[in-house]
Amino acid sequence: MSQTKFLLDESRMPTHWYNIAADLPVPVPAVLHPGTMQPVGPDDLAPLFPMELILQEVSTEREIPIPEPVREVYKLWRPAPLYRAHRLEKALGTPAKIYYKYEGVSPAGSHKPNTAIPQAWYNAQAGIKKLTTETGAGQWGTSLSFAGALFGIQVQVFQVRVSYDQKPYRRAVMETYGATCVASPSNLTNSGRAILAQRPDHPGSLGIAISEAVEIAATHDDTKYALGSVLNHVLMHQTIIGQEAMLQLEMAGDDPDVIVGCTGGGSNFAGIAFPFIGQQLRGGKKRRIVAVEPAACPSLTRGKYAYDFGDTAHLTPLTKMHTLGSTFTPPGFHAGGLRYHGMAPLVSHLKELGLIEATAYHQVACFEAGVMFARAEGIVPAPEANHAVLGAINEALRCKAEGKSEVILFNLCGHGHFDMASYSNYFAGKLTDASYSEEELAMALAGLPSVPA
Ligand SMILES: *Cc1c(COP(=O)(O)O)cnc(C)c1O
Repeated sequence: MSQTKFLLDESRMPTHWYNIAADLPVPVPAVLHPGTMQPVGPDDLAPLFPMELILQEVSTEREIPIPEPVREVYKLWRPAPLYRAHRLEKALGTPAKIYYKYEGVSPAGSHKPNTAIPQAWYNAQAGIKKLTTETGAGQWGTSLSFAGALFGIQVQVFQVRVSYDQKPYRRAVMETYGATCVASPSNLTNSGRAILAQRPDHPGSLGIAISEAVEIAATHDDTKYALGSVLNHVLMHQTIIGQEAMLQLEMAGDDPDVIVGCTGGGSNFAGIAFPFIGQQLRGGKKRRIVAVEPAACPSLTRGKYAYDFGDTAHLTPLTKMHTLGSTFTPPGFHAGGLRYHGMAPLVSHLKELGLIEATAYHQVACFEAGVMFARAEGIVPAPEANHAVLGAINEALRCKAEGKSEVILFNLCGHGHFDMASYSNYFAGKLTDASYSEEELAMALAGLPSVPA
């Protein structure tokens, strides 16, 4: 068996994030102010984010330097390993080579600290004392709580009610890092109170939790808001994943033909894929790039490409993206991190330009793939990551059917140690392939804001 693990020396850890805006053939559509329908400027975003992050959000520079203190924290777990999945290949009987980049080695167990650390650092530099945020499964809340602890920032997390109830240990981790955690919808905000008045037992959604976190930040001077996905600067911070993978695949002497990632808001997918897409846009090799999303919350494959709000109470600017409608409440399936109504504007734009593909899978098949992966490779993937695992397995099986020895790279964005209850449900046969209500989807899409052409 040839080499399995490809470790990059710390001295070769990337020094810059990659900004795909520099290489796009067509710029991403402007972000609009919902009142004036005019493009938003940096000042419109200033109540929510520190200026350094706003400038990154609109930057068209190809390379943005990673500040030294951020690199120092990254070194706690980066460079992250790249593995060749020899045993999975064997179990599948495929001639394809499968590689995976493993982001579960971070203290929070996922890719999310890659952006939580710089976001907390830039806020601390700007004198901010408190950050508010939302979390679904708890991965993002955990990551920002960890980052807040390192840079002396107080963190308040609005956790989607179903996850808050289903995942008490996630909350305990956030509290260990010193954060406070509130079930959303809550009584602490106008947005939360309005939802509870309509439906006191509302299970919550990321869209509602975002409204609550944004409302607190917008109404307090020393408080800003941090988002764990979707925004340009968040996707950019994740590009350290793909840049490292590129160097590690060079060590392995391979070049991927297919790259697979799971998509909730699009950040880990962007992290692994954008550096490779950038190479292609600058005249390099063309690869297939596949986004995998849950069939129960299928924004890229079933959503409309339209201007929409990022939250349910309509406090955010309008972005053009693949959306299921900001009032859409996806069913409570187990990959909590993939339950967002919209997709990152950059990922949506690449889909429209034909630079990426998208596919949707049901959860039972994803868990089946995750279990197969664990039994071959040893790592128990996060339920979200199982979507990418199944995507990679299906590509490997296609290679087997076609007799092709393609090179497949996928992002194993996190481990599943906090989600074992969902594995228990899977083994007990209690997981079903929840589908969303078509009627509710139609209603949510009918409610999209009308934006003059
Ligand atoms: C949050 C999360 C996701 C979904 O977010 P993206 O921005 O699409 O990456 C996927 N996997 C894990 C492990 C997560 O924590």
